[in-house]
Amino acid sequence: MISVFGSANMDLVAYAATAPRRGETVTGTAFATVPGGKGANQATAAAKAGASVAFLGAVGDDAFGPVMRGALESAGVDVSRLRVVPGSSGIAHIVVDGEGGNSIIVIPGANGAVKGPTPDDAAVIARSDALLLQLELPMPAVVAAARAAGDVPVVLTPAPVQDLPAELLEVVDVIVPNEHEAAAITGQADPAQALDALLELVPEAVVTLGSQGALYGSRGGERLHVPAVPVRAVDTTAAGDTFVGALCVARAEGRTWEAALRFAATAAALSVQREGATTSMPTRAEIDAAMAG
Ligand code: ATP
Repeated sequence: MISVFGSANMDLVAYAATAPRRGETVTGTAFATVPGGKGANQATAAAKAGASVAFLGAVGDDAFGPVMRGALESAGVDVSRLRVVPGSSGIAHIVVDGEGGNSIIVIPGANGAVKGPTPDDAAVIARSDALLLQLELPMPAVVAAARAAGDVPVVLTPAPVQDLPAELLEVVDVIVPNEHEAAAITGQADPAQALDALLELVPEAVVTLGSQGALYGSRGGERLHVPAVPVRAVDTTAAGDTFVGALCVARAEGRTWEAALRFAATAAALSVQREGATTSMPTRAEIDAAMAG
């Protein structure tokens, strides 16, 4: 079983030829409400990739909370520990212009109210095969969850990128940044050098490189480069979350790092060939079929 202690957001996406300037009103072309948030996305990816997954987080008592709960549930995620807190759910208010550029306001809402795992959350974490963390909850809450993990492997996606306190790093087992996050954390633009620098912080690291695949390294000296599966990408939204979710499923099943990285690359390559975030994430049957093919 995999635990995800993280954020759930409702993405409110407005499409318009041009984004409005201050004081301006523009008529848009389309609107979509899409459940997201890095925590909920990784939980969805892992559940669709075949794991039993518990999502530990919070939604608000607004109209979006039940929709977000329903989306996780229909992906097979256990939401029995999802809390409802007074006020707004986490919201990402997104304007996409005619050239595909976007501007985003994130309101933490219920995510910002999460102070740490409850005793029941901590009990779920303690009997997991892995704990997945991201940085869309308040840092003290993330640190508290990581420290509740004990011997359970802690996998951190350091996004959105920010300073990582020592009390967090000392209990993280695997860090999985993309190349930009890896560069920001380490000050090394070259991904291989960034990987080496990350291994001074945590025992194992995976740096994802978009269409160039991913690098893995361990303090024991192992280094791997697993290429991306060559496909025609139409929408890379949540490729990283799909990759991390699938990677943790494969590791929890006992696969080697190389096999797990190939499984994750296959899942992410399937997701980038379809529009959307969680809707584009592949099922286990789709991943297995693509790997067999
Ligand atoms: P995002 O922010 O879009 O969710 P990310 O920046 O966190 O993604 P990336 O490094 O872009 O993460 O991608 C994660 C993984 O997804 C890559 O390691 C690769 O396996 C796969 N991937 C991403 N883009 C492509 C692509 N164009 N073709 C095939 N696979 C891809």
